[in-house]
Amino acid sequence: MSAAPVVATAQARDALLGVYRPAAPVFVAGRGAHLIDENGTEYLDFTAGIGVTALGHGDAGVMEAIAAAAAAGIIHTSNLYRTVPGQELAQELVSRSFADAVFFCNSGGEANEAAIKFARRWAGAHGPAGKREIVALKGSFHGRLHGSLALTDRPAYREPFEPLMPAVRFLDPDALEDAASVIAADRTAAIFAEPVQGEGGVKPLSTATLQKLRELADAADALLVFDEVQCGLGRTGYLFAYEASGVVPDMVTLAKPLAGGLPMGAVLLNERVASTVKPGDHATTFGGGPLVSSVALHVLRRLADPALLARVRQLGDRLAAEFATWSSVKEARGAGLMWGLELDAPAAPVVAAALERGLLVVTAGEKVVRLLPPLTITDADLDRGLGILCEVLA
Ligand SMILES: *Cc1c(COP(=O)(O)O)cnc(C)c1O
Repeated sequence: MSAAPVVATAQARDALLGVYRPAAPVFVAGRGAHLIDENGTEYLDFTAGIGVTALGHGDAGVMEAIAAAAAAGIIHTSNLYRTVPGQELAQELVSRSFADAVFFCNSGGEANEAAIKFARRWAGAHGPAGKREIVALKGSFHGRLHGSLALTDRPAYREPFEPLMPAVRFLDPDALEDAASVIAADRTAAIFAEPVQGEGGVKPLSTATLQKLRELADAADALLVFDEVQCGLGRTGYLFAYEASGVVPDMVTLAKPLAGGLPMGAVLLNERVASTVKPGDHATTFGGGPLVSSVALHVLRRLADPALLARVRQLGDRLAAEFATWSSVKEARGAGLMWGLELDAPAAPVVAAALERGLLVVTAGEKVVRLLPPLTITDADLDRGLGILCEVLA
């Protein structure tokens, strides 16, 4: 870490487009679950950059992987040429999952856009001409681009930008008995679902729901796509969230923690989908470049460590027991180190009050406080953060 923190000028801050409403602190350094602002004040980070820095801030291994990759002297070549790290990373993802092939991109939204295209490519190669529709779930969040936003069940995010991608229908995961009016073999190409809905309030889908989605997809000869951009890569205590249910999807999208904070997304595909995708069907300039892929390979191996995953599951059990005793919480939902605390009141004032006491948390919708601490968090840091949060809620 550099000794002299770089302080943003008011002018530089004003030049940022006003699509965000960032909190007051200006962060200049980090270590583990801690972030330090320009005044030297330390904060405990239970957001991990919205589920991104799963190994914590300033992780020595990640820093070394970045330095080693930079020292190799190729940051980028484009996908016109082959490089080793992207191939190794794809191989590692394939060997650790259901998948037979991997496509790399640069964000979660991009991963879902790609998955939508691959689903339609498969359906076009496979079914009747009208088999174009994508089914998403009530409460979903899949990104802010025109396709991924079309699959996102948030009117405030959607309406100013309509018309979005057409041929999307929504299905209520709590009323799957009504699925026949939504899913049909002659028009449904794929069903998209987050095994644990993140932005929609941290709602884990039950194993029974995931199984039913698999059955519905199979009955309609459609694909099942899991968006694990937030819940994947160890967050729930499993390398892939779907593993807990035993339900195997046709595609999985990944991003947030994949490259340790560098931008990277991925789509994992099984052979039946991969075999329908041809050169030229999709592309991205940056996707799977050697620097990000080298770092992601390091991150993936660390997050796949059985001891780390066992500890995340253990902490999840502990948190479930702990939150059950908090009378200020209407309902606590989650798994591993992904939790949503549903309140009777707006969550934003709680987030602000926690920030004042040095704890970073984030909302997930109007009345849910969301916790996404680093997966490497120590017991001491976890206890301290829970103490602050419990106080704030009381
Ligand atoms: C964050 C998120 C996305 C979008 O990822 P970006 O990198 O912001 O485009 C998509 N799906 C889920 C489940 C997410 O949590």
